[in-house]
Amino acid sequence: MRKQIVAGNWKMNKTFQEADELINSILEYIKKDENTAEVVICPPSLYLELASDQANDTTLMIGAQNMSCNGFGAFTGEISAPMLASMGIDYCILGHSERRKYFNESHEMLAGKVEMALKHGIAPIFCCGEQLPERESGNHFNVVKEQIEKALFHLPESDFSKIVLAYEPVWAIGTGVTATSGQAQEMHLYIRNLIKDKYGDDVAQETSILYGGSCNAKNARELFSNPDVDGGLIGGASLKAEEFIKIVRAFD
Ligand code: PEP
Repeated sequence: MRKQIVAGNWKMNKTFQEADELINSILEYIKKDENTAEVVICPPSLYLELASDQANDTTLMIGAQNMSCNGFGAFTGEISAPMLASMGIDYCILGHSERRKYFNESHEMLAGKVEMALKHGIAPIFCCGEQLPERESGNHFNVVKEQIEKALFHLPESDFSKIVLAYEPVWAIGTGVTATSGQAQEMHLYIRNLIKDKYGDDVAQETSILYGGSCNAKNARELFSNPDVDGGLIGGASLKAEEFIKIVRAFD
């Protein structure tokens, strides 16, 4: 059975002290109960060591928000997959719409990042999703198809099967406007069928596809009740332990 995952994308938020408190609070909740879903937090890279140390010997998984497509070298300000791997980091968000928009990340660059992550044992949480005009013009399926095909479909099955996908309609990210349960399920099924056509039904059935975009404690249960929605990538609502844990509990 495929994994259900709730991953928190903290983006560029929290001071060191606040990050410390948030990780501790999340761990308090996680230690109390058995969670149905795997719980991942993706703090700013500066706090990855802190998170990784605190999460040691717990079920909490740690992810980075970005990494370079290069291994080592003269790339001032960058962090690389071998660095993340050497710190025991489990996941890396790749292809987030904010990185595509503000840092001009192309399909080709993302293909390189995905390969680099996999080579070093880091599982990509690969984001895809359309902008509002693309949905309004009925082009949303083509946009998502292109993002997935160009960055991921060159991978052999053994590599593709390590990837977690996150469908994040750009118009829903940080806006308070969530995709309807029907819109989410429709796109997730479409993505699963793309995977099925390329890698076969077994791989498609095993691939976790998360929903992201203004998911919160109020709407998570309905979104996650869809057969093809395997959890969430959570931005704003992952910044408060209580709210984030309510989302994790939406599976129970
Ligand atoms: C995100 O940025 O990945 C995200 C889903 O943000 P929010 O939950 O705040 O919409």
